[in-house]
Order: sequence, then structure tokens, then C-alpha cells
Amino acid sequence: MTVQEKTNKYIAGTYGRFPVTIVKGKGAAAYDENGKKYIDMGSGIGVNIFGYCDDEWISAVTQQLNTLQHTSNLYYTKPGAELAQVLCEKSGLQKCFFANSGAEANECSIKTARKYSLDKYNDENRNIIVSLKQSFHGRTLATLKATGQDVFHSTFGPFPEGFVYTEADNYDAFVDLCSKNTNICAVIMEMIQGEGGVIALNKIFVKKVYEFCQKHDILVIIDEVQTGNGRTGKMYAYQNYDILPDIVSTAKGVAGGLPMGVCLFGEKTKDTLTPGSHGSTFGMNPVIAAGALNIVNRIDDSLLQDVLKKSDYIKSRLESCKNVISVSGMGLMLGIETTKDSKEIVNECIKNGVLPLTAKNKIRLLPPLNISEDELKTAMDIITEVIDR
Ligand SMILES: *Cc1c(COP(=O)(O)O)cnc(C)c1O
Repeated sequence: MTVQEKTNKYIAGTYGRFPVTIVKGKGAAAYDENGKKYIDMGSGIGVNIFGYCDDEWISAVTQQLNTLQHTSNLYYTKPGAELAQVLCEKSGLQKCFFANSGAEANECSIKTARKYSLDKYNDENRNIIVSLKQSFHGRTLATLKATGQDVFHSTFGPFPEGFVYTEADNYDAFVDLCSKNTNICAVIMEMIQGEGGVIALNKIFVKKVYEFCQKHDILVIIDEVQTGNGRTGKMYAYQNYDILPDIVSTAKGVAGGLPMGVCLFGEKTKDTLTPGSHGSTFGMNPVIAAGALNIVNRIDDSLLQDVLKKSDYIKSRLESCKNVISVSGMGLMLGIETTKDSKEIVNECIKNGVLPLTAKNKIRLLPPLNISEDELKTAMDIITEVIDR
């Protein structure tokens, strides 16, 4: 049996896979079993921030792997402590909790917001979380329910309760919802709705919601699972919005290709979680934390400037395409609306050696942040040619 046959026979069919078997990679280049090269414009869905098998990252990970691969959270370890300090300094928040995925980081956000509210108001009903329509927050039962798309709210019920939904960029609707429901403890938002179509929230909307929430002690949770870690040209996307959230979750890119989720807490929530209130066996794994420390330390101003420069280059290449309707997103998280079917475009790109993603009806680009100018040019030559074909 081939790898593809074996996969289809023995692995649950939760994914519609493209007919490509990736065997290795270096930088932005992935190779299939026949040695065919692809330029990866998706980074494993925004995970491989520095591409495949980055040398510095490998060295940080393997050094730790040869020293201490795991111990329990009953003891102290250095990589997690150092990583936490850097994440707090870069985010402006105060403490963190380490989980293993985006959905788990969001679960932690939800638990923390509710505990903060219960501790402070001693009111069992003040536990409602506002989420935006078209959002995506994960695949666990609670994060599916936190996802503001009806299609995710079937099949697996009963779901945890306590989520209400409001339209993105409609401040009046948000205020109206909050005035009708006095039990709201938090709002959760992605600054750029990724799975929802790479749609950046309006800056005035975000600022007004933030100010309203501060006034009413409603916690602001920002889901930076996809937008975080330099993706938008800032360390975190909320730094483009002039707000300081109460809780931030991130995952995907943070450890450069190893599974990690992080929940960060601000001044209000930094002491909400107490011994026994939350935990994770693999959370803060030292090997993954060492990899993440290497990654986040390298997301500096010069890299972020470079992200913006590459973003401008991609946009300028798309401007001249006759079949492009619009380009959305920020930094190296871009959505391309075209006159064609996005899946067909992706299939054609794959045939020509480029791996883009889709989001709803758009082409979604999440290339590694350090993709070379040459590779980016080659990828854009192919993508623009396929779009306009
Ligand atoms: C991918 C994603 C998640 C879920 O992350 P997992 O690691 O797959 O659990 C949650 N929120 C956003 C915004 C995402 O893009």
C-alpha cells in the first residue's frame, strides 16, 4: 500500500487531503516522495514560522531533547520559565499557562474568564461569553460552541452553554446585546478572522468594544492562535489595535512546528487560576518550550519589518491580476478573493509546485515569515498565473 492508501484505510477520515505526500522540507520548500519541490505558502497552517527544519531551532530543540525531555508540572524547569518571561515582556501581559493546542488555550481562556467573574461577583449566572459571528475558536466541545458559526453547533451536542453571538464590526449590536444580558463576563475575538475568511476587524469597533468592556468589567479575550507570533507584522495582532487584552491565547506558530498552546493573563486575571483549578500533563514540555523560546526571541523588529515588506510585495503582485476581486488581512496572513473557485486554484497551484491554503471562498496565504525573496517571487509568479489563467 502507498502512504496515501494506508492513510485512507487506517486513519479516521476527518480531513479532505490534497494528493501530496510530503516527506521532507527545508525553509519554505517541501518535497514529496518523488523529489518534487513545492514552495509552502501555508506553513502547516501558520505553524512553521521559520519554515521547515530551521537550523537554529533544531539546535535549541535537540539540545534540550538530550538534556531533559519531560518532567511533570510538580517540579520547576528552566525552558518554560524563560519562555514565560519573554512572552509576558513581548505581550505586555503578566503571567501564562501552557497548554498543547489552540483549542486548549481557548478552553483555558474560557475557564479563567468565568472563574474571575465568579470569584469577584459570587454570581453563578455571570458566566456568558460574547463571541463574534464568523469566528473560529477550536474543535473541543466548548470551543466549538464559542465558534460563532452555526455549522459547528450540530451533531455533537449537548454543548456547554453560555455563549452568545454578535456581528463583527457592529458596535451598536454589541452594546444592545450587553444591555439585554447582564450576565456577560467576557468577549472573545480574533483580530483577523482566519478560518472565517481572513477578515480583519475594524479598528474603531475593537477600540470601542474594548473601552465598553473596561467600563463594565467584561474581560477582553483575544484569540491570537493564528494571528500571533509575528504573523501580522506585530508580535500579536492586538498590538495593531492599541488595546491591552485581559486574556490572550496563542498556539500555531509559537513553537515553530511543535505542539504548544499558551494562555496569557493580564493584571486582572493573573492570579485567577490557583493550584488545582487547571492543569495539563504535557503543558510546558521542556523540549517544546526550548523550541518556542528560540522562535519568540527571533521575532524582533527587523523580522517584523520584513514581514510587512513581504506583505506589500504580495499585495502589489495581486493588484495587477484581472481575476482578483479583493485582498484582505495583514502582514503575512492574507486572503485573496477571486472570480474563480478557490479549491480549483489551489489544486492548480499544487500541480505547479506551490502550496496555498483556502479560507471559505478565498485563497489564504500564511507563508513562513522568513521565506526568501526569490521563493516568494517564484510562488507569486505561479499563484498570479494560475489566478489569471
Ligand atoms: C487554528 C485555530 C484554533 C484551534 O487551534 P488548534 O491548535 O487546532 O486546537 C483556534 N482559534 C483560531 C483563531 C485558530 O486559527
